[in-house]
Amino acid sequence: MNPNLSRLREFVTAFGALVATRPSEAELLREGAPLLAGLVSVDDWLPDEFAQADPVRYTQYLLHADSEQRFSIVSFVWGPGQSTPIHDHTVWGIIGLLRGAEYSQPYRLSPGDRPIAQDPAKRLEPGQVEVVSPAIGDVHQVRNAFDDRVSISIHVYGANIGGVQRSVYLPEGGRKTFVSGYSNAVLPNIWSITA
Ligand code: FE
Repeated sequence: MNPNLSRLREFVTAFGALVATRPSEAELLREGAPLLAGLVSVDDWLPDEFAQADPVRYTQYLLHADSEQRFSIVSFVWGPGQSTPIHDHTVWGIIGLLRGAEYSQPYRLSPGDRPIAQDPAKRLEPGQVEVVSPAIGDVHQVRNAFDDRVSISIHVYGANIGGVQRSVYLPEGGRKTFVSGYSNAVLPNIWSITA
């Protein structure tokens, strides 16, 4: 079955229109979260090329970057049992679960940048979304809820996230800067009107 790329294209257009209203971060998260929830509530649009797990580590495929780098959209593909380090984003992010399930464990930082787990890990099921930002809680660790199959979440960030300098946090305290980049060899042609 051909992927229904029009669903992603319409999301990009709607999200771009929202960003163009120059909302506050709180407004953007409030209005943007249901847009992403709509996108991830139907699993018929992500091309297989952007749903491929890597046996060694989780993959992050760029689906769209706004021409002014005001936002970017990424598919995160978790192989069985894969997880991130404890990390931050430095910009707002909206995370929507498309396939499978994942756990997000929030952390706060004590002096010396030592991460302290807070609240229970949140399990995201298909169609559900969560938000992160420096203003509301930006440090977490995410993992596939399954040890025997792939899970996929769709992330929208308030920057060209693959080029943002941010941090991973060591369990014993301290941080290391990193730039995630992207796993893509190519981009989806979401602007083809025949798709
Ligand atoms: Fe994250």
